[in-house]
Amino acid sequence: MSVPDCPHCGKPATRVLDLAYGYWEWDDESARYQHRTCSERVDVAPWVHHECMGELRDLHPQNDYSTTAG
Ligand SMILES: [Zn+2]
Repeated sequence: MSVPDCPHCGKPATRVLDLAYGYWEWDDESARYQHRTCSERVDVAPWVHHECMGELRDLHPQNDYSTTAG
């Protein structure tokens, strides 16, 4: 194994977003931007999984995962 799984959705965290404050997405129904974020806390994890926006608090993209087992 090399790609760590997301602790929230269980899928491989192949893309990790560096979005401490999330992003804004246009919502046609409300005709406004909606804030998409991984957490409502001030203490936001710096990285999130791109598929589920789950926090990756214990994952650090700059670590070497090539030797990680399991
Ligand atoms: Zn996920």
